[in-house]
Amino acid sequence: MPLVVSDLVRGRLVGSCHRGRQRYNVTLLSGNAEIRPIEPLPTEPQPCTDPDCRGQHAPTERVALAVSLCAARGSKLTTLRRQVLELLWERGRPTGAYALIEALELRYSRPFGPPTVYRALEFLISERLVSKIESRNAYIPCAHPERQHECLFFICRICGASTELEDPRVVQVLAEDAAALGYHVTRSVVEVEGACPKCIPAGAA
Ligand SMILES: [Zn+2]
Ligand SMILES: [Zn+2]
Ligand SMILES: [Zn+2]
Repeated sequence: MPLVVSDLVRGRLVGSCHRGRQRYNVTLLSGNAEIRPIEPLPTEPQPCTDPDCRGQHAPTERVALAVSLCAARGSKLTTLRRQVLELLWERGRPTGAYALIEALELRYSRPFGPPTVYRALEFLISERLVSKIESRNAYIPCAHPERQHECLFFICRICGASTELEDPRVVQVLAEDAAALGYHVTRSVVEVEGACPKCIPAGAA
């Protein structure tokens, strides 16, 4: 297998090679080579984080939806932007920028500069494909980017999972309050922190 050494990442010499269509990450450490297959994006459906949806979505299908939404809007989902979105879908929980960069470097065996990753995240947020969880400084893909909606979040402080909600009543109350105060709202963040049903010990609820 021909090996392409792409860079030095965090003190490790890394590269990639492929046999047929399978790509491998290679890490060289003091004379030993560690070869790991690059896992493809999961195709199995996972439960939607929007409880109103009650559906299941596969990361591959959601990323394909993002590609077609961007094509319809005439916005460019570049390779890096797509790779960032893919990893966020794959992780399926709020992920901080540095954990994301580390996962990208591990997967693609090359360094990713924080400014380029932050710019990709800004693009994904502006396209409403990704939401930022402000209280966690983390990012999560929007469950339904095809619908115009405000994302509200419930976040479990024990397991870190988040549940996305669309609640027009909350949006309505905020709009009424803003009107009463004479505010022109450019952005509102609704994040509720607590323990999810899985993390509440039996009998404690
Ligand atoms: Zn859904
Ligand atoms: Zn959303
Ligand atoms: Zn939990």
